[in-house]
Amino acid sequence: YQGLAGRSTKEVLQLYAAHGQQMKLQRSSVVTQLHGAIKKRLKQDLKSLHSVALELSKDFQRQSKTCLYQVLAAVQGIQLQNEAMQMFQIKAFDLEQSLQEVTERYEKEKQKRKALHNSLVELRGNIRVHCRIRPLLPFDAAAGHSVSQDRQRNFSEKVAYAADDETVLVKCSRPGHASVNKTFQFERVYNDLESQDAVFADVAPLLTSLLDGYNVCIMAYGQTGSGKTYTMLGPQLEGNLALSIEEESELGIIPRATQEVFRLISEKPPGSYWVEVSVVEVYNNEIFDLLAKDSYGKVFGVKRDVVTTREGKSDVPLLTHETVENAFEFLNLVNKGLQLRVTHPTLVHAHSSRSHLVVTLTITTVVFGDNFGTLWEDEQTSHRLNKEASCTFPQKMRDSKSTSSSRASSPVQLEATEKMKQVKTRLQLVDLAGSECVGMSGVTGAALRETSFINRSLSALADVLGAIAEQRAHIPYRNSKLTHLLQDSVGGDAKLLVMLCIAPGQKYLTESMQSLGFGTRARQVQRGQVKKKNFPVPSKAK
Ligand code: ADP
Ligand code: MG
Repeated sequence: YQGLAGRSTKEVLQLYAAHGQQMKLQRSSVVTQLHGAIKKRLKQDLKSLHSVALELSKDFQRQSKTCLYQVLAAVQGIQLQNEAMQMFQIKAFDLEQSLQEVTERYEKEKQKRKALHNSLVELRGNIRVHCRIRPLLPFDAAAGHSVSQDRQRNFSEKVAYAADDETVLVKCSRPGHASVNKTFQFERVYNDLESQDAVFADVAPLLTSLLDGYNVCIMAYGQTGSGKTYTMLGPQLEGNLALSIEEESELGIIPRATQEVFRLISEKPPGSYWVEVSVVEVYNNEIFDLLAKDSYGKVFGVKRDVVTTREGKSDVPLLTHETVENAFEFLNLVNKGLQLRVTHPTLVHAHSSRSHLVVTLTITTVVFGDNFGTLWEDEQTSHRLNKEASCTFPQKMRDSKSTSSSRASSPVQLEATEKMKQVKTRLQLVDLAGSECVGMSGVTGAALRETSFINRSLSALADVLGAIAEQRAHIPYRNSKLTHLLQDSVGGDAKLLVMLCIAPGQKYLTESMQSLGFGTRARQVQRGQVKKKNFPVPSKAK
């Protein structure tokens, strides 16, 4: 029994061991299985991870490649832009250079043009005559008393025409009169349709000469009502110049010339020019200063006299000269002066002016020693002005020089005055009184006296132009205040433009023929080729 028990125990133990072994075996196979599965799974995961990583890196490569391309393209673009910029810079530089060249060439051309202009003006002679025929106007038909209907109709018939822009044709046949068929030649003829603009366009070149150092005079000649004031100033409203901006196209030569002078000055170095204005009226052979003010500052006409200076120039002592900075100031001044103008209505035209109006712009040029001569481009002019400057050295400056030396002031001050030179040139703009004969106007008494003074001054003007034409040694400037006053801008190498004004109606035939005759005689004045002499101004003249 014991043995049996031992055996059984053994068997149990064996069985137990076998069971343990079996269990062990079983467990290890599960682990192996598990291990295999895990391994497999891991392998799979690793594989997919690898492929993802591969994909990612490929993607990264692709993207970085595109970025690189983009960066490269941008860099290339910048380079191109840089190159273009450089090209532009080079081009801009080239352009700048050529602009400078062109500017220089332009300046040279301008100087040449100026010299040519002056020699052209010189060749044409210093006196030119233009003729303006105004349109027929409603008042031309109004004939006044004791005139038959028929004659009245004939009155407004047109007899003066502009045949072309250099020829005036006067054609008229009246019963009981010799028929007239005559032509007159002038430098320029304006027909009744030509504007103020057109008239000024031909006048403007003369003003260039003004800044080149020549005196210039523009005067309107013609009978009352022929358009002198209209041409010189513009249309007048109740004795006051219509000078508002809206009527700019209607402005006459005087306001336009002033604008042009200021425009020309603005092209010059600032401060080297200044402009003074005087307005005088010559009435009954007396000179009235229309800008003179009384002690209360009120403007009133003061009588002045004209004298000849030691240098042989004409001068009006004590005449009021107002400095003006622009055309607007100038017009205001002239308007003030005009208010005082003596007018006397004649039968010809209600606003007839019985006096000569002389508006003078004095342009003073200040030049400092070394600069002298560079201001005027052509050598001839600067040489001429150089000579002139020493003789027209203003009284005031000569005085200040002598006082400063007598006071033995500092040499610096002396040198400053020594080095400074002034040149004055004058632009005289003249609206002459009516050139009609006494009989025509039907005036008597005081008005007759006025008219005879007017006639005398106008014939003195004709005499002066005639004497210049014949190159006579004695020019009778002093025969009237008018010619004495205008001496410097009519004689010497001054440039004169006579603007003949003609009313076209038959009524004015006699007067128109007289004016055209005056213009024709004035035109024969040829001083261009004649060597300039200083005007003979005999001191013994009356
Ligand atoms: P004057 O000064 O010679 O006596 P005005 O200049 O006073 O003559 O002219 C007389 C009239 O004729 C004025 O009413 C003026 O407006 C007019 N007139 C003159 N010329 C012209 C023209 N070219 N066009 C239009 N009207 C004119
Ligand atoms: Mg007038």
